[in-house]
Amino acid sequence: MTQEAIQGLIDALPLPTLLVTDGDRVVGANARAEKLLGQGLTGRHLITVLRQPSVLDAIEACQKTRQPKTTRYLTSMDRNDMTYQVHCGYVELAEASGVLVSFEDISHVEALGQMRRDFVANVSHELRTPLTALMGFIETLQGPASKDPAAQERFLGIMMNEAGRMNRLVSDLLSLSQVESEERIRPSQSTDLTELIRSTLRRIAPVAEKARVELQDDLPPTPVLVPGDEDQLRQVFTNLIENAIKYGGKDQTVTVRLSQMQRDPALRGPGVRIEVRDTGPGIDPVHLPRLTERFYRIDSHRSREMGGTGLGLAIVKHIVNRHRGRMKIESTPGEGSSFVVILPALD
Ligand code: ADP
Repeated sequence: MTQEAIQGLIDALPLPTLLVTDGDRVVGANARAEKLLGQGLTGRHLITVLRQPSVLDAIEACQKTRQPKTTRYLTSMDRNDMTYQVHCGYVELAEASGVLVSFEDISHVEALGQMRRDFVANVSHELRTPLTALMGFIETLQGPASKDPAAQERFLGIMMNEAGRMNRLVSDLLSLSQVESEERIRPSQSTDLTELIRSTLRRIAPVAEKARVELQDDLPPTPVLVPGDEDQLRQVFTNLIENAIKYGGKDQTVTVRLSQMQRDPALRGPGVRIEVRDTGPGIDPVHLPRLTERFYRIDSHRSREMGGTGLGLAIVKHIVNRHRGRMKIESTPGEGSSFVVILPALD
């Protein structure tokens, strides 16, 4: 096989690939490999091309044993950490026998694994806090407080609170996993948003009253239909309105506004816009992009105190995605926040 033929073969491969002779010289590399490792690879000595010992060891082992070998190659591109699975395979060619080294980008698999580990660590941490408190109070009730009815009463109240917090967390986790598992299935029901929002507001009214928050609505007098799962959409508006009440603060106003749009640029079609606006302290812009991440809170102490799980907006985002909608968060510190959901209208 001629040098051109070898180069042609390497060029046709979908992964960054190079061929290294037994004398450790690069005799062929495709454009993808040059993008990953630098220009002008062909003709160079291996050691000047690749410096990671694990990759050099794998190539050497493959040269010696002629058996396939795999290893990892870590690098960074545009400030992102990248992980490649390196495959070494021996090829016997009359003119240039050697190791064919190809690099498979597995960064997304790595990132998913990391996300899963973080999620499990977060859930464990969130559950452990109330659990530790519960165990502490049980011990106290069995010991020092066993004959003190007043203390028992107080501790049982706190225990009920902690158990309630665990219960909310488990319910939110279940909702999240259910929404995620359905994310690819388009909702088939048609739902009247005007009535849905009106009834959600009625349900939340006692919570608002207790928090001294005035609820206002600006809804059209007619039904507004969207293809949507009624229970899930109710959860979206419940979470957003409850957040506005919780974080907006006392003596403030929360307004829910529904408007119809002939054409939404993001949806490329007719849409329905629902805005939940509060007049609270607002959100510093640095937090906005991360607000819908699981367990992301601006002030975790405050959120926990309010009974928050840190999952409410993550659930909202997944439900909106399932409905092929968009979500926008805007806020001016000192002037309040606005959470906007845009859903495709019924054709
Ligand atoms: P939580 O259970 O903590 O309320 P969410 O996912 O619903 O979790 O919200 C995440 C965080 O976003 C909250 O902890 C809070 O810091 C912030 N947040 C949500 N809604 C508002 C709002 N209307 N005003 C100010 N901050 C908000």
